Amino acid sequence: MKYKDYYDVLGVAKNAPEKEIKSAYRRLAKKLHPDANPSDPKKAEERFKEISEAYEVVGDSEKRKKYDALGSNWEQAAQQAEAQRRYRESQQQQAGGFRSGGGGDPFAGAGGASGFSDFFDSFFSGAGQPGPARRGGQFAQRGADLDASLDVSLAEAYAGGQKSVSLSIEDACPRCNGTGVLNNSICPQCHGTGRVIVAKKFDVSVPKGVRDGMRIRLAGQGGRGSGGGPSGDLFLDVVVKADSAYERKGDDLYVNLPVSIYDLVLGATVRVPTMTGDVEVTVPPGTQSNKMLKLGGKGMPRVKGGGAGDQYVRLIGMLPTNLSDRERELYSELAELRRA
Ligand SMILES: [Zn+2]
Repeated sequence: MKYKDYYDVLGVAKNAPEKEIKSAYRRLAKKLHPDANPSDPKKAEERFKEISEAYEVVGDSEKRKKYDALGSNWEQAAQQAEAQRRYRESQQQQAGGFRSGGGGDPFAGAGGASGFSDFFDSFFSGAGQPGPARRGGQFAQRGADLDASLDVSLAEAYAGGQKSVSLSIEDACPRCNGTGVLNNSICPQCHGTGRVIVAKKFDVSVPKGVRDGMRIRLAGQGGRGSGGGPSGDLFLDVVVKADSAYERKGDDLYVNLPVSIYDLVLGATVRVPTMTGDVEVTVPPGTQSNKMLKLGGKGMPRVKGGGAGDQYVRLIGMLPTNLSDRERELYSELAELRRA
């Protein structure tokens, strides 16, 4: 990207008063009108675009301030602007499956969206700026839809309810109010982009039984709009963390329960953990190891349609080790009885 000397384009001095810039622009615009250049209208049009871009910036007191402040730091500021733009685009792409278009922003997207140079777009256009305030009125822009992930434990997914989370999201710079300019120079916090990544707290209502990969939409909690436009939405991708005790398949839960072989052989009552506390389960005499017991309705609540899944308990028979002499004697006796 090349630095554009807009004063040079208009043929005026850097400290030229507003009035002089205006008349220089008018004079050039007249001169470059296609009707006045029948021999080479294309070239005149190119040149006209250049002076339009220049006047768009230095003919606007706010933009001129920002442009002047760029000075020798313009490359660093450009890198910042580019990084912010790419971040924004990736965020929009991630959220893209959920809605059509780019969040209703007529100028969002890659460089050159305004019809002007990349240099112009980096600093004065695009979704990161508080609206491309083109001469003759400002567009009301809806804020960008943002995307973040929300970690929940299995217990939180089971119970549902309010969860307070702190997320890193992109927002208007609080120091310069999203203008990129502070006291006539580049805002040191956002480097002139008007946008910053901030940690923000959100109260999220987690639906009971929420599954991994589901999305929660927080309406109006996304990027701030500009020019009176509404805020975008915040989309949270739910990540249900793996649990050490339970395996989840759909709305069903699976748990392994070690039991002694005596309980399997003779039958017993065993305690089984569930999401709502231990329950007692009867193991009938002569139960094989790895037998699966079903606890109806003890699984995860169903997000839609009510009710709940089931819990399955796999009984794992545990053999005694380090046998005493007496135990070995008795096992031998049992073995003989079986052979007989
Ligand atoms: Zn700022």
